[in-house]
Amino acid sequence: MIAYIERFVHEDVESVPDPESAEQEGDVLPLFNGVNLNGTVEFAGCGSAAGSDFGGVQFSKPLAVIRPSNSEDVAKVIRLASRSPHLTVAARGNGHSVNGQAMAHRGLALDMKAIESKIEVDPATAQADVSGGALWEDVLKRCVLDYGLAPRSWTDYLGLTVGGTLSNAGVSGQTFIYGPQSENVTELEVVTGNGDVLVCSRNQNSELFFSVLGGLGQFGIITRARVLLQPSPDMVKWIRVVYTEFSEFTRDAEFLVTLEEGDSFDYVEGFVFVNSDDPVNGWPSVPMDSNQFFDPTHIPRTAGPVLYCLEVALHYNNVEPPSAVDTRVERFMGRLRYVEELRFEVEVGYMEFLLRVKRAEEEAKANGIWDAPHPWLNLFVSKTDIANFDRLVFKNILKHGVGGPMLVYPLLRSKWDNRKSVALPEGEIFYLVALLRFCLPYPKGLSVQEMVVQNQQIVQICTKNGFDFKLYLPHYTSNESWKHHFGNQWTRFQDRKASFDPMAILAPGQKIFPRNW
Ligand code: FAD
Repeated sequence: MIAYIERFVHEDVESVPDPESAEQEGDVLPLFNGVNLNGTVEFAGCGSAAGSDFGGVQFSKPLAVIRPSNSEDVAKVIRLASRSPHLTVAARGNGHSVNGQAMAHRGLALDMKAIESKIEVDPATAQADVSGGALWEDVLKRCVLDYGLAPRSWTDYLGLTVGGTLSNAGVSGQTFIYGPQSENVTELEVVTGNGDVLVCSRNQNSELFFSVLGGLGQFGIITRARVLLQPSPDMVKWIRVVYTEFSEFTRDAEFLVTLEEGDSFDYVEGFVFVNSDDPVNGWPSVPMDSNQFFDPTHIPRTAGPVLYCLEVALHYNNVEPPSAVDTRVERFMGRLRYVEELRFEVEVGYMEFLLRVKRAEEEAKANGIWDAPHPWLNLFVSKTDIANFDRLVFKNILKHGVGGPMLVYPLLRSKWDNRKSVALPEGEIFYLVALLRFCLPYPKGLSVQEMVVQNQQIVQICTKNGFDFKLYLPHYTSNESWKHHFGNQWTRFQDRKASFDPMAILAPGQKIFPRNW
């Protein structure tokens, strides 16, 4: 079928043509002549959803948004771009990046969700073949409801695409057991920057496999992933406990994540909150349902401006007697040093647990804070520097909170295969720090500029104090910064680019390699 080409006309103020993009749109139109796509093309000179993202800080204008039907369409678009000296191609998953990483300024945006979502489960091998543009929440529902199986490793929020999280890592409270999501796939179908459609795994086209996982979209577009599954439990016991001392919080969190495999909780995370009655950032952010109350009289007067919450979860099945579940829970809880009176717990269905952020999304949408800008900052900070990070950042710069969760929990480097492209701090234990800013639109909340400046200040503190840290979901604009980010992996990263996307067509929004570098 000949591509359906539709000229997108905006009726708002942005309909004034941009002379630069109009010129290039003229250049690109003939390139589509004779290209038989099964999907559709929308020439979006004045912008579209592909021109913004969840961050709401960066905006750009793709020349066209392509809705591919299959991998062959993706390959055709890449080959088409290679015939022009300047065109780039960005796979856009669900656009939940915060710094324009999925954008293609005056390039071609591929809407990966348009590819028919395929989720094929093979119960015999406990694996699922899923399309790169499938949302993790759809993968969850299909696997659990139809097969009683589920992926092993998750992100906290599941409105993200499989290709989008695999291109970064995909971390959550299960990562200490199974590694990130990128460690839980056994095979990929990838369209490289050379326009080749290749299947890869640890044993087949292995260099491509390792490159693409955590590869920030630089080497290929993931059109299918084979995801490892395990039996899904019926229920989850979900517990939060409070600490006043960071050293005790980290001691207990590290104790839980370093227990023998299979002999700990099924999920371990943590967060920092403000030692005040602030409804968003303070004590009320800890209780898990409306019947629970955070009684601040249990906080010693000597406590600092912030407190810490360890969050754990244990899976169980309905056939297991409640006393047996309690025994399993108390075996671990009994060894922790939290403030005893500040323990909160609920029992929820497994899917409800994994879809917990969806409920927060619904509330945030109703309050107007979901669509406001989100200058988020995500870091991996080595265990050796996390106490200083707490002192200089949480207890100081962020002592009033960020208007949303400030996650901090330990991960284990040995669960990450270093042949993959992700850059990590040295040392076995490092912490994910996620500053998930949810602010009311300015002037009710902080201005975007103030939030961005605060993020820069935090990164500068880490740098100036020589912390061993890496940005997660990194965002840099200079080649020098990227070199520094990858450190001794930079040469390998460059070599991989030269092999799989030598013209630097892919993922221009990451700003790592200019076209024809
Ligand atoms: P996009 O933003 O669309 O794309 C991200 C990058 O990947 C771009 O460079 C893009 O070109 C590339 N890309 C997209 N699809 C493909 C593909 N098929 N093949 C190759 N490259 C591709 N992350 C975690 O690890 N853990 C969390 O718990 C977590 N929670 C989050 C909660 C929220 C509310 C949000 C907004 C983000 C969260 N993230 C989390 C971050 C998230 O994993 C990344 O931003 C991810 O990239 C978003 O996926 P996406 O599908 O929206 O990707």
